[in-house]
Amino acid sequence: MEMDQLVALCKRRGFLFQSSEIYGGLQGFWDYGPMGVELKRNVREAWWRDMVTSHNELVPPPGAPSCYEMVGLDCAIIMHPQVWKCSGHYDLFHDLMVDCRESKRRYRYDQIQGRWVEAKGQTIFVCTESQGPEAMEDLQHKALRFFNLRSKEADELRWQGPIVSLPTLEGEGGKGQGEGGGPVYDFSRVLGPDAKTLGTLTAPREFNLMFKTIVGALGGEEDAAFLRPETAQGIFVNFKNVLDSTRVRVPFGVAQLGKSFRNEITPRNFTFRSREFEQMEIEFFCHPEHSRAWYQYWRDRRYRWYTDLGLAGQRLRLRDHSPEELSHYSCGTADIEYAFPFLAAGDFGELEGVAHRGDFDLRSHSEGKLVRQGETLVVEQDPQGKPKHRGSGKDLSYFDDLTKERYLPHVIEPSAGADRATLAFLCEAYCEDEQPDESGKPTKRVFLRLHPRLAPIKAAVFPLVKKDGMPEIAKEIYASLKPHFTAFYDEKGAVGRRYRRQDEVGTPFCITVDGQTLADGTVTIRDRDTLRQWRVKKEDCAAEIRGRLGI
Ligand code: ATP
Repeated sequence: MEMDQLVALCKRRGFLFQSSEIYGGLQGFWDYGPMGVELKRNVREAWWRDMVTSHNELVPPPGAPSCYEMVGLDCAIIMHPQVWKCSGHYDLFHDLMVDCRESKRRYRYDQIQGRWVEAKGQTIFVCTESQGPEAMEDLQHKALRFFNLRSKEADELRWQGPIVSLPTLEGEGGKGQGEGGGPVYDFSRVLGPDAKTLGTLTAPREFNLMFKTIVGALGGEEDAAFLRPETAQGIFVNFKNVLDSTRVRVPFGVAQLGKSFRNEITPRNFTFRSREFEQMEIEFFCHPEHSRAWYQYWRDRRYRWYTDLGLAGQRLRLRDHSPEELSHYSCGTADIEYAFPFLAAGDFGELEGVAHRGDFDLRSHSEGKLVRQGETLVVEQDPQGKPKHRGSGKDLSYFDDLTKERYLPHVIEPSAGADRATLAFLCEAYCEDEQPDESGKPTKRVFLRLHPRLAPIKAAVFPLVKKDGMPEIAKEIYASLKPHFTAFYDEKGAVGRRYRRQDEVGTPFCITVDGQTLADGTVTIRDRDTLRQWRVKKEDCAAEIRGRLGI
């Protein structure tokens, strides 16, 4: 499947629109249309239901070291600014970006890639922002234009080495070691992705990803606050509230679902990297001695959640981070990744990270921002020897009244993105086949093979023709379905076209009232994937479909 096909279907059938489209759109922001809102709600609800409400705390689930409890939270998007200072986001949550002096465009440093090429006695490094199969095509186009060559003179370009990312230029006229030990950047032979001349890219600079806002009417710097870049911190700062207001005991998990905001330098790949997105996060608190076993459990449990909902096979993988990749506080992290069609063959994009975070977060919010010193974490100090970012000073330890032990729980964090999951389910579901149309001629059919739990509409009801009492019967059936699940009634146009429209939005079942219904009271039910049709009594439709949906 080409990504363009899915993007076109999403717009045509009301899954996703560019935000503020009539004003030319706003990069990195997306609106979910009538179909998209149902799909994403279903993704969120499947997660909440599977992780929180249907979890039975009295029985250990398969693979879990013991029983555990799960509760939820819904915290404010804007929190006390100190939260982000202690969590490390204020000092550390940034990307490196480079600016182009010529095109005035800004790029994420690690997302520019390029290749050395020689022609007419000059060697340059041509850059592109494109990924995947288009990257080489784009590089060739840019190199031809720079050297003033025509397409048929492409043989004159002598490419050297493979495509590499801009940060790997070290020692090759790119990044070097400066006098003070810091890097020196020489981009004089680099042709920026949108530049016509060489050497227009600036050295990389840090750019904080948090959106700043002002709380209250006075608007001074001391009133500055941030839109949360993740939902997790709301859980940590409410750890004591949850303990004090419920009877949960360690081990337990707190789930939260909600919007997060990151001022991404280069939002791209449809909704994959947006500036406003939704996260589905769990902070699971456990005894330090059992944390490795819990980490293993959550890593496998979360992977299975995606396969149970239809992401499968070679496009989904669970990748353990290498020790160099781990954050300074993490004792183990695994990413659940999907081979999105916009990525190069063999590349995967993160759907969810499952991290063993130790006691980093609870300690930070208690003592102050932590930094690693050798093997231990210590409170970072300012030049005066005071904590750089002071914590709340509240004791966030846990007292086990059975064992009489007091300790800081360790945390396992499965952190997923609702938009990325929705996009992966859409990519996986997109199918094409050939089916005979009304006149028997084989024609292309596009359908979304969505898991029935995720499908925006579970069943559509059609009268074959708009007469002979068929619409009345169809409307009765429709009314009998509505209390149980999302249904859609359609009496307009040829029935074949009505089926195709439902296939395109992934409706698993279509119910048709036809001539035989008038004779024996049965209707046909058609399966989206197999196209098999069978008859049931018209009053049994709701039960039949509920049985097949498992609801
Ligand atoms: P990436 O490396 O792709 O930027 P990340 O490692 O920064 O992601 P986390 O901070 O671990 O992401 O966030 C947890 C989850 O939130 C991600 O796995 C992803 O599903 C989602 N997410 C993060 N950033 C974005 C974004 N800009 N747009 C959409 N979803 C996002």
